[in-house]
Amino acid sequence: MSHNRLRACLKSALLFAIPIGMLAVFAQPSRTLPDSIVVFAPHPDDEVIGCAGIIMQALARGARVKVVAITSGDGFPAAAAGVTHKPVDQVGPDDFLALSRLRETESRNALEILGGKADDLILLGYPDGDLGNLYESTDDKIIRQQFTQKNDTYALIKKDFHTFVHGKPAPYRRSYVLGDLVELMTTLQPTEIYVTDETDAHIDHRAAFWFVRDAAKQVGYKGAFYTYLVHGLPSWPFPPGVTPNQPFESRKVDGEVAPRALPWPPPRRVPLTLEQAARKLKSIQAHNIPVVGMPEHQSEMESFVKSEEVFWTPARRSVIRR
Ligand SMILES: [Zn+2]
Repeated sequence: MSHNRLRACLKSALLFAIPIGMLAVFAQPSRTLPDSIVVFAPHPDDEVIGCAGIIMQALARGARVKVVAITSGDGFPAAAAGVTHKPVDQVGPDDFLALSRLRETESRNALEILGGKADDLILLGYPDGDLGNLYESTDDKIIRQQFTQKNDTYALIKKDFHTFVHGKPAPYRRSYVLGDLVELMTTLQPTEIYVTDETDAHIDHRAAFWFVRDAAKQVGYKGAFYTYLVHGLPSWPFPPGVTPNQPFESRKVDGEVAPRALPWPPPRRVPLTLEQAARKLKSIQAHNIPVVGMPEHQSEMESFVKSEEVFWTPARRSVIRR
């Protein structure tokens, strides 16, 4: 779906409250709509770490694919320092915005490597590092991100989603994050959703799961719901390194089974060909922010290149938990 068509659809949905899927069905009664895959990434790069194979395979079979970056990764001081060649303790709001612009650009480039188009990347522009605070904010207060000093959504290589649809940014409030996700799901009518797992060590990744799960519940989503793991505990992934000939493995680390709190084998394993694994590596390498003091950052991301991608289906489990 082109960006203009997306906007037109969104406006239709807002003004007339007509499900977009119904409009499409009426317009083309004899055609079955292709699958609609939506990959939610808390930060630019998570989408390819977890789902590059899913994205390229879906695009190759003609499915619609959208990547939704919930934040632009603007809360990472060591990366802002690396991008702007400044000491970490001297980076300011403009430096975090420079990082944000770079990370948005990298996500777009990575998606194009996988066969997607720039329009397939949707930027929500919520604050990196604060998704957990937003989710837990029971009073729906506005949050100001400490690094960019922003308190409403933005994106730098295109309009952020809320501004694109509503003509003005959304305040950093819990209800707006959820509202944007509900609006996206209503419009895109996904048949498969992917988001980071709620056992992830990074709070933004867990909060992304909670928000997407809640939005899915709110719209009565009936499609497939998969999670992917990035910052697995106590350590992840295994085996280490780029191993396109080897699947992911569970291992014991200091007496504890990794990945923690997730079933192994995972309920869904999607094989990648060597060519697909090579393309996944390229898409990860398109994310190349220099991170001061973390020389292993890039190789850790590349360690997600395996002979497969693995997913969990936690919907029932989390419905019980929360
Ligand atoms: Zn992330």
